[in-house]
Amino acid sequence: MNITYIIAMQAEAEPFIEHFGVQEVPDFFSPLPCRLYRADIAVTSGEPVRLNIVCNGQQHGSDLVGCEAASVATLAAIEKLHPDIVINSGTCGAFRADGADIARVYIGNSCMFHDRRVPGDDRWGTQALGNYPVWSGAETLAHTLGLDMAKVTTGSSLDMQPCDLQIIRENGGRLKDMEGAAVAFVCSLMGVPVMFVKSVTDLCDGGAETYEEFSRNLSKACRALKEVNIRVIDYIATHRLA
Ligand code: SAH
Repeated sequence: MNITYIIAMQAEAEPFIEHFGVQEVPDFFSPLPCRLYRADIAVTSGEPVRLNIVCNGQQHGSDLVGCEAASVATLAAIEKLHPDIVINSGTCGAFRADGADIARVYIGNSCMFHDRRVPGDDRWGTQALGNYPVWSGAETLAHTLGLDMAKVTTGSSLDMQPCDLQIIRENGGRLKDMEGAAVAFVCSLMGVPVMFVKSVTDLCDGGAETYEEFSRNLSKACRALKEVNIRVIDYIATHRLA
């Protein structure tokens, strides 16, 4: 069983990398900046797992967050690693009005873009929003592990403009990130199942300045993410990809 994680920020991957003692495979994606960490891990039962953690890498001295880097990393990872499933794990904003809390971890049940406003007929609108499928087993996984599910909406900015909010809310979005739908877009083209594990760093309707709140909560949210990912890997290894 080959489980491949796509993770935007090094800080999001670090607790995870430490826990599994995965080793970096240097220059695996060269000349792309994406980084591969790999381990074969023992699970409580079921198939042994080849765990690949792919980080988007850096450019201009900072982690490559956002859709372009996530698409590049996902395509390269699928072509070179042939995963049975891709998991996009990372942080997100969420809404206090939905009962969200800092460091709560969700499984995505659907995903879309919230900042691609393309006028035209329904077909253009549909393509702009994306709405790519999520792995059909995600719901049972979330239920079994006692995790909430929510719709991931993706855009290219950390802040939220009123038009973003309108599209998010009109479409039932609850988790706001910068990579999810891009990862799912590539997976939909390549026919690989995709799943989201997202931990809340900031509350979009909480009144705090987003970057400050994000930075303050990043390490707490990433520790929570690691704990859930350990259980997710164990679950998938045990239950296979029905
Ligand atoms: N300048 C920041 C960059 C973080 S960008 C830094 O130096 O750390 C935010 C990252 O966290 C993205 O990968 C995105 O997917 C996620 N994220 C967390 N909260 C978000 C929010 N409210 N809106 C969009 N993305 C968010």
